[in-house]
Amino acid sequence: MSLQNQTIPFLDLKRVNAAHDAGIRAAIARVLDSGWYILGEEVASFEHEFAEFCGVKHCIGVADGLDALHLVLRAYGIGTGDEVIVPSNTFIATWLAVSQAGAKPVPVEPDIATHNLDPACIEAAITPATRAIMPVHLYGQPADMAPIMEIAQRHGLKVIEDAAQAHGARYLGRRTGGLGDAAGFSFYPGKNLGALGDGGAITTNDDALAARLRMLRNYGSSIKYHHELAGVNSRLDELQAAVLRVKLPELDAENASRRRLAAAYMAALQDAPLQLPKQIEGAESAWHLMVLRTDRREHLQAALSEAGIGHMVHYPIACHRQQAFAQQSWPNLPIAERLQSELLSLPIAPYMTVEDVNRVASVVKAALR
Ligand SMILES: *Cc1c(COP(=O)(O)O)cnc(C)c1O
Repeated sequence: MSLQNQTIPFLDLKRVNAAHDAGIRAAIARVLDSGWYILGEEVASFEHEFAEFCGVKHCIGVADGLDALHLVLRAYGIGTGDEVIVPSNTFIATWLAVSQAGAKPVPVEPDIATHNLDPACIEAAITPATRAIMPVHLYGQPADMAPIMEIAQRHGLKVIEDAAQAHGARYLGRRTGGLGDAAGFSFYPGKNLGALGDGGAITTNDDALAARLRMLRNYGSSIKYHHELAGVNSRLDELQAAVLRVKLPELDAENASRRRLAAAYMAALQDAPLQLPKQIEGAESAWHLMVLRTDRREHLQAALSEAGIGHMVHYPIACHRQQAFAQQSWPNLPIAERLQSELLSLPIAPYMTVEDVNRVASVVKAALR
């Protein structure tokens, strides 16, 4: 491979974290030396800082993003016999959070241009068993929350944001995590705010929900060895919280860098024969992923691989087509199926340069010419 052809990986986590190297090492040493590793000062401080960042009253750290979503449903008493509306195009954790709670995920199709839940399709899916809507801010772009909240209020439903891909994104000037009744975040290493392992959090303004979640995540207990609820063990640990506290103050700057790269992609590819992601009015994406749509995906994938450029598909199999959900019957979901065969994600990461983007874009354009 020539120098000019040097590789642009899809995502290099070592490089992401190298930008915080000294701070992360100091944080790890601080936790090690503290002798306190579960539910201590680091988690309490991170919860405070992340709640403030999202503009909400409460943040509850948990083990991962799936637990965050699942525990919110449990805390609301949503379970067997209940239905929760989910997007047909999402990472499977959204659906699994619902099925794990014992409830039924009811898929609603996305807007093909934004890839996000189409508010116009929601009401047809509401039944007397519906308890909640779980919009996903997919690929970092906020779902169209104003009409979703309006529908939920009219039908007495909870709105639980799946914000696992959208730390720091804004909708009408407000952060994701504070747009619905509660939100679930993931700090999986590859997310915009990523730990060095698994981690997750719930954000909410609901005092009673927050109190219940604090018990649920810790064996259903608020006083040691007194168990009011049949809870679980799902705690963000001190080490991950300490690392996240180092990275959180830089998140806005890193997201700004992602926005610059996304704008460069949009400009470079505006005339290319492919579909760029549509941004809705008033939304500021966190650009977790740069996802485009093409009916010549395999050809494009081959060209990118040939040029040493990383790429991925988010996601190659729609949730209702997964073996895990195959035993249930689902409505026709033609948009989800079209997306699974046409979406392609290009590299985007805070350390990348506009030159990197232009190199990727030129390979894309040459391949589709
Ligand atoms: C990553 C992700 C989750 C789950 O997060 P984990 O921490 O991996 O459990 C949930 N929903 C979406 C949309 C995600 O991308």
